[in-house]
Amino acid sequence: MSLPLLQMNAVGRTYTTGGAPLTVLTDVSLTIQCGEFVAIMGASGSGKSTLMNIIGCLDKPSNGSYSIRGVDIASLSGDELAALRRDTFGFIFQRYNLMSDLSAVENTEVPAVYRGMAKADREAHACNLLRELGLGDRLKHHPSQLSGGQQQRVSIARALMNGGPVILADEPTGALDSNGGKEVLAILEKLHRQGHTIILVTHDSDIAAYARRIVRITDGRITSDELQQKEVEGNQLQSAETGTDAKPGVAVLGEALKMALRSLVNNRMRTALTMLGIIIGVASVVALMAIGNGAKQDVLERIQTMGTDLLTIRRGAPAMHASGGIVTSFLPEDLPFISSVPGAAMVVPETELSALLRFGNEDLMVTAVGTGEDFPRVHDWSTQSGVFFSAEHVKRYAQVVVLGQTVVTNLFPDGMNPLGQYVLIGNAPFLVIGVLSSKGLSPRGDDLDNSAWLPYTTAGARIFGQRFFNHIIVRVQPGSDMSVVQAELHTLLMHRHLKEDFNIRNMADTIATANETQNTLTYLLAAIAVISLVVGGIGVMNIMLVSVTERTREIGIRMAIGARSFDVMFQFLTEAVMVCFIGGLAGVIVGLGGGLATSAIAGWRVIFTVTPIVIAFGCAFLTGIIFGYLPARKAAQLDPIEALARD
Ligand code: ADP
Ligand code: MG
Repeated sequence: MSLPLLQMNAVGRTYTTGGAPLTVLTDVSLTIQCGEFVAIMGASGSGKSTLMNIIGCLDKPSNGSYSIRGVDIASLSGDELAALRRDTFGFIFQRYNLMSDLSAVENTEVPAVYRGMAKADREAHACNLLRELGLGDRLKHHPSQLSGGQQQRVSIARALMNGGPVILADEPTGALDSNGGKEVLAILEKLHRQGHTIILVTHDSDIAAYARRIVRITDGRITSDELQQKEVEGNQLQSAETGTDAKPGVAVLGEALKMALRSLVNNRMRTALTMLGIIIGVASVVALMAIGNGAKQDVLERIQTMGTDLLTIRRGAPAMHASGGIVTSFLPEDLPFISSVPGAAMVVPETELSALLRFGNEDLMVTAVGTGEDFPRVHDWSTQSGVFFSAEHVKRYAQVVVLGQTVVTNLFPDGMNPLGQYVLIGNAPFLVIGVLSSKGLSPRGDDLDNSAWLPYTTAGARIFGQRFFNHIIVRVQPGSDMSVVQAELHTLLMHRHLKEDFNIRNMADTIATANETQNTLTYLLAAIAVISLVVGGIGVMNIMLVSVTERTREIGIRMAIGARSFDVMFQFLTEAVMVCFIGGLAGVIVGLGGGLATSAIAGWRVIFTVTPIVIAFGCAFLTGIIFGYLPARKAAQLDPIEALARD
């Protein structure tokens, strides 16, 4: 005699959840051979469903042993048990347990998904099964559009999808009217004749009468076990093409994507709100980085236009920029010495102070710059009209002034030529002899054109009341080494001042400092963006936890028909990743649009680079995986029995 299909030896089951332990099954020994039609009969609460769940490997005995085809199930892993449920057993539940989002065909297909059957094959097979069960015209209907009897037939088709050599039917007619019940029983009889092993749970002796063998159970103990009639010889159906070597990868991925998409579409509003966090996060990274980049480039270019071959000598020790007030070190007498340093092509002093400029009835606060005749050449700054003052003007303390564009526009009526006019600075009249071309903003963002340039001699004596200079600009001869000239200047000034009450900066330093400042800003922006991504991720996690709770029953059904823990986990992870993926994509688009809009409306410069876009998108993707993991794991660790019991 071959190995029995199912063999239970003194099986007991005690529930320990919820207070005192409750023993539901005691000492159940039962052997079922291939091809039998067994009814398990007993009153409500006698432990039939508990026994059925153990038979179907949804539950494990608390004591005793249970083996299937000679293999003790205690030795099997979770995945191996899932494979048994998938390939050996076909469950038919009292309440059908179809998934309401799926059509009849799709519901029927699910067990084959976990088996790795190709989409076209499983669809064709599912349609055939449904047609055989008389549902040929209901293939695309959803459970809510089907009668109870029809739903139960769909669930029978699903049980047969992977062959279903052993059909486990727990009160399959319990929710049906007598006609529907008869239909279902007729189908079970037919399946029995075809060789399927049928185990039917019922409390109704009329229904049990369909079986060839009736096992009675009272208070968790088997009280009788009798054959009804002579066993009819069916063509023994051996375990149908069992596919323990199946590779469900692609099919499971396809199903996960389909289910994720469906869940997102079914909960559009919720999905959109969840995505919003991710969209804002990604969009802010993309837009803010582009704006930051643009600002940085602007600053760097402004520095470049100031000239890169300049050295600036400032008052004050290198570490204390603000101490200028006390140090009066640079005087006109210093200039010839500085000019004598080899490599110093041009030298101009610069002292800048705010001053009130008046023409007619108009007043204007401007930056008055006391400087030398080489100022335009040092800064590559051309005159637009008239001339810049000369060395002679400087020497004679001439009361002449050169104006910037902003000053001309604001102080003189339309079209009036400022040349030859007198403007008042303080109380002193100055003759306008020239206008400089426009230079725009300084690296700090000040308007360079709102300036008036005066000979430093006149400015010091008449307006500033100080002889010393704020700083001195040295333009280095082309081809000379900046650092050598800088060192020479340092030596010279140390020699003259005897202490380091000055500091010399070159453009490279200035650029590096500006770069640093801008990078700090950019990192700050990035940090804000990352924070909003994390907030978005928490939103995703929250909504996924809700989704798992809502779909606990679906998870139970999927596990009962063969999904492994991994499959369930994968499905929920896919959903989280999909939210973040779509959100990330939308975020990139919104970010690009927002950046462009900013540049159009505010006139800011924006520079898009690939790296932040890729990083932001990658972060969104990672967010999905990280924040989707916990809810997905929660789903995967659900106990199928408890999940199925949930409403
Ligand atoms: P039947 O299917 O014969 O009506 P069940 O096997 O469903 O009976 O239940 C048998 C007994 O076990 C009942 O008293 C029920 O309350 C209890 N029971 C069933 N499932 C659980 C569970 N998960 N936790 C605790 N007790 C349970
Ligand atoms: Mg029951």
